[in-house]
Amino acid sequence: MRLVPDLMLTVAGWTSGRGVTLAGGRIASIDPIDRPQPGDVPLVGKGLLPGTVNAHCHTFQSLLRGLGDDLDFAGWRDRVLYPFSERLDRRAIALGAAFAFVEMLRHGATTCVDFFYLQDEGNDNAEAVVEAARAVGIRLVLARAMYDWEGAPKRYREPVADAARRTRELIAAHRDEATTVIQPAPHSPHGASAAMIRAGCEIAEAEDTRFHIHVAEGRYEGERTLREHGATPIRYLEWLGVLGPRMIGVHCVWLDDEEIALMGARRAALAYCPSSNMFLGDGITRIPELSQAGVRIGLGTDGGCTNNRLSVFEEMRMTSLLQRVRLLDGGALDAATVFHLGTRSGAEILGVEAGVIAPGQLADLVAVDLADASLHPRIDLLKSVVYAMSDRAVTDVWVHGRRVVEAGRLVTVDERELLARVRELTQGWSI
Ligand SMILES: [Zn+2]
Repeated sequence: MRLVPDLMLTVAGWTSGRGVTLAGGRIASIDPIDRPQPGDVPLVGKGLLPGTVNAHCHTFQSLLRGLGDDLDFAGWRDRVLYPFSERLDRRAIALGAAFAFVEMLRHGATTCVDFFYLQDEGNDNAEAVVEAARAVGIRLVLARAMYDWEGAPKRYREPVADAARRTRELIAAHRDEATTVIQPAPHSPHGASAAMIRAGCEIAEAEDTRFHIHVAEGRYEGERTLREHGATPIRYLEWLGVLGPRMIGVHCVWLDDEEIALMGARRAALAYCPSSNMFLGDGITRIPELSQAGVRIGLGTDGGCTNNRLSVFEEMRMTSLLQRVRLLDGGALDAATVFHLGTRSGAEILGVEAGVIAPGQLADLVAVDLADASLHPRIDLLKSVVYAMSDRAVTDVWVHGRRVVEAGRLVTVDERELLARVRELTQGWSI
């Protein structure tokens, strides 16, 4: 199959008069279009972009959207997250995942990290999420949480040995799958014990994966880690011996200069969620400083009830705007930089060969309607994609070479039926 768009964004910039040949889930070649070939898919009036990468999400939280809006973090967690996540059975977990995956695809995200922690002492719930991703057709990095803080609901928690064994089993069950990757995810310095965090890192080493961990999201977390462990979060992770290139720290809002330098020196990565950090009033992560220190960065939406949108294009825009207002500098982070964070850089931190249109890369692609008003006037198309583009401009999406959105509609699942099930499940919910 060869996609033939009007314009295509490659590493060399926008090009026209070329087609992208897809084979075996990857981009086989990019060639000049001399003459039409059988199997050509003309994309008239469309621009082809790499799919975006959502480096941090909790999919079940989409079902909780709207319940805790305008609460502070403690209110949101204790009145919404904890009690309502107890209401979800396995079918509801799968429904929430499908609901979130559909929204992401419609917004042009082709890879999603689901940092998943409703384990119920097993992997059956995680398997339901994997199955939902397959059915909807998104590429899934399931960050299998490892949680043992006693203040959290029971279904989040497991003894270290059990969490480690189940995480290994889940990785083994999905090894070499085309669109599913499992990675360990000790919850955070406050949600996981030292032994749990070490176990997560050891699994990542043994299985050659990355591992995810929430770090310094709210100011209180750093204070708590300092009080309980005698060190701020990044110093604590360094002391545990887990700070390294496999680590993906989520948020990293409250780091001091030394912690930023240390994170960079260890080549650790960051999954940055600007809208969520704003929504919960957490603070502003120092992105230019982290990047300059050598920290690799991807962008995430976080869960659907702390954003409340699931669009990486939106996170690109927010990443740039937030640094401008923080640094009082309208040129703080340009469009090309934040587009890179939401695509190629995000894929790189996850170990996924995507986020760029080039031969050999995974065929995860997005077509946008160049006739959409939000992409007018045509001054600089990449800047318009980042700062101005409406989600309605995303018309077609391919994941692993499979067209999962066509002319703005999901081809894999019935969206109306899905939404009817969401309405039925959440009817009457309030706090
Ligand atoms: Zn999170």
